[in-house]
Amino acid sequence: MSREVDAIIIGGGLAGANLALSFLNKGISCAVFDKEDLESASYVASGIINPITGRRFVKTWLYDQLKEYFIPYYSTWEDRWQVSFFNEVNIFRSIPDNKLVNDLDAKLADPDYAMYCRPMEASEGEFLRQKINFQLPGYVFFGYQVNTSIFLENARDYITENAFWINDKISLDSVNSTNGKYKIKDFYSKRLILACGAQALDSSWFNWAGLNPNRGEVLKITSNIPQLSDLIKQKIFLVPESQNQYWVGSYSTWAPSTEKASEEGKNYLIRHLKNLIGLDYRIDNHLAAFRPAITDRRPVIGEHPQKNGLYAFNGFGSKGTSLIPYFADHFYNYLFDGKPLAEEVDVARYWSSN
Ligand SMILES: Cc1cc2nc3c(=O)[nH]c(=O)nc-3n(C[C@H](O)[C@H](O)[C@H](O)COP(=O)(O)OP(=O)(O)OC[C@H]3O[C@@H](n4cnc5c(N)ncnc54)[C@H](O)[C@@H]3O)c2cc1C
Repeated sequence: MSREVDAIIIGGGLAGANLALSFLNKGISCAVFDKEDLESASYVASGIINPITGRRFVKTWLYDQLKEYFIPYYSTWEDRWQVSFFNEVNIFRSIPDNKLVNDLDAKLADPDYAMYCRPMEASEGEFLRQKINFQLPGYVFFGYQVNTSIFLENARDYITENAFWINDKISLDSVNSTNGKYKIKDFYSKRLILACGAQALDSSWFNWAGLNPNRGEVLKITSNIPQLSDLIKQKIFLVPESQNQYWVGSYSTWAPSTEKASEEGKNYLIRHLKNLIGLDYRIDNHLAAFRPAITDRRPVIGEHPQKNGLYAFNGFGSKGTSLIPYFADHFYNYLFDGKPLAEEVDVARYWSSN
């Protein structure tokens, strides 16, 4: 028997799952279709939320607003599900370059930056250097981390119990609407939302919307180095997972011909790992996934200019864990409360240049 829901969502990664949770919180019914890819960006990611990034030490776009939002958001779901997946973390970043140190020190004169970063203390440096080959000077960035696998497993269970979660790959271009309603399998709705990450390029619906996927490669390793509890950034990230196990990443490639992990990526990660911890490790896995990056580095959200009821919720690039909860709510307000979309995220900005 067919069933009508307020929205059908295709994609159950961080974007689709968070959107469904946001809808359910507000009493909106939905069905999520996901083809269950445990090597999608959402699962391969280490879930770091870093307030200041890159060689130019840029504060993450909207960080102050995002932070006010994602802290209570993730904490509430942790309480509800009685699991732990969200933590405050220190990111120890090696900056062995005088010019960069001067640049960062100049930024830290601004209280807006100083609240998110400080120089490492000598004792912290000594402590780290007893464990790994950390190159001084170093700075501590105050970030957060979401264990995306634990979050997604619990989100999927919750959505299954409170709405509909269907493990299935949907052939996007074959979906049609009749009388203003989209029908997929046993569900129909006035709203069809594509939250498919980089795979939105598989269909003609939003392939004009600025998507420029970036392949990220990571290693999962086991090492006997003395256990670290903080995150290390020295060219690459070394992120403690469970006992003796670390996430190492990432190696990025723009416009690669395949999503598969490459020898080049593996060699890059091994080279920097060797500088950081020597040879004391075993590679358990080498994974790769496409980040749904957008040319102007802003999400793409909103209705297709020519297809009523067809929406994009995509383009969260390398910052899905911080951006998605905030924009899921923003999208809800637009869809169901008649509020305007922020222009800088409106997918329509790419339509005119199409
Ligand atoms: C190596 C790497 C490291 C990263 N590190 C971080 C980090 O530290 N912090 C951070 O915030 N972000 C990080 N990211 C980025 C983050 O992973 C993304 O922003 C986020 O996962 C995007 O989520 P998404 O749901 O839009 O896309 P995806 O994760 O790609 O999910 C799309 C989902 O849609 C499903 N799907 C697609 N097409 C169909 C279809 N036709 N039918 C049914 N289902 C379909 C897929 O199976 C998948 O589950 C990283 C990404 C990578 C690759």
